[in-house]
Amino acid sequence: MPLFSTFADALVRPLLAGGFLAAGERDRLLDELPRIAGADLDALGRAAAAVRLARVGDAVSLCAIISAKSGRCGENCAFCAQSGHFQTTSPQHAFLAPTRIAQAAAVMQAAGVARFGLVASGKALPEAELAQAATALAAIAATGMAADASLGVLPRDALARLKAAGLAAYHHNLETSRAHYPNICTTRTFEDNLEVLRTCRSLGIPTCSGGLFGLGESWADRADLALTLLDAAVFSVPVNFLSPIPGTPLAEQPVLSRDDARRIVILLRLLLPDRHIRICGGRPTVFGPTTANLAPLACGADGLMVGDYLTTGGASLEQDKAGLQQLGFVGV
Ligand code: SF4
Repeated sequence: MPLFSTFADALVRPLLAGGFLAAGERDRLLDELPRIAGADLDALGRAAAAVRLARVGDAVSLCAIISAKSGRCGENCAFCAQSGHFQTTSPQHAFLAPTRIAQAAAVMQAAGVARFGLVASGKALPEAELAQAATALAAIAATGMAADASLGVLPRDALARLKAAGLAAYHHNLETSRAHYPNICTTRTFEDNLEVLRTCRSLGIPTCSGGLFGLGESWADRADLALTLLDAAVFSVPVNFLSPIPGTPLAEQPVLSRDDARRIVILLRLLLPDRHIRICGGRPTVFGPTTANLAPLACGADGLMVGDYLTTGGASLEQDKAGLQQLGFVGV
């Protein structure tokens, strides 16, 4: 009698024992995964959740972000409401005062959220804003929260300065595979993004990097991204599902189905068994506004971004906390 299903049991056996999928098993997974549905998909999800439990534990890491600076971005990421290349209605604002950022962090800390990140639009921050970011990070770190930042393609000296100010982890998404990236952004390269992760690593700054799914990428692109993240030694992998934004080139891209979103989470858990898989933007878009949007936690994810996302609304924090409790998870 198989534990999950014959297929799932064979796949997760090495992962439960502390290993990784061999190339042949990866190929088999990629071949089968897009077609697995119904009870077989449920079984594979339970198997991925067992890997999560065995490799990273049963806690759910909660994080929140603030849009420290919004809009007017010179980059042309095809999904983004903040790109100055497209006509969107996304709000714009200058870099927020560090005191305001620290106040927002305190609200999340009081609600039981352990990590707080400041996020700024643009390729990189100018000097004055870098100083503001350092002040804000120091204020967040002083509360005992993990002070994270996502401030673009920063040079080594700027990253070192943020680390000295209290930066706990730097976030910089690769977004998609190297092959698909030129279809999504042409104002920077995949290599530019990877270099940010390498620089952080050389400075001893933990990195959080993942992607946005539903950009028209293939399953092979999804697996390539996962393997690049594995190799880049990121500790946390944000998973975003596209919410198509009117005015952007991806405005007409269909929203991922719930089953495809679950398959993506399963794929990431099985290819990255020892990393934190954190569900971020697009969770309500794909899974709806109810606690059903916690479904990715039942197929291997172990982290959630709570509160609002950068340019789209998130699930209610109180609802998320109640849902976690109902499902027997503990948010940390
Ligand atoms: S994703 Fe970031 S870098 Fe790309 S256009 Fe949006 S704000 Fe700019």
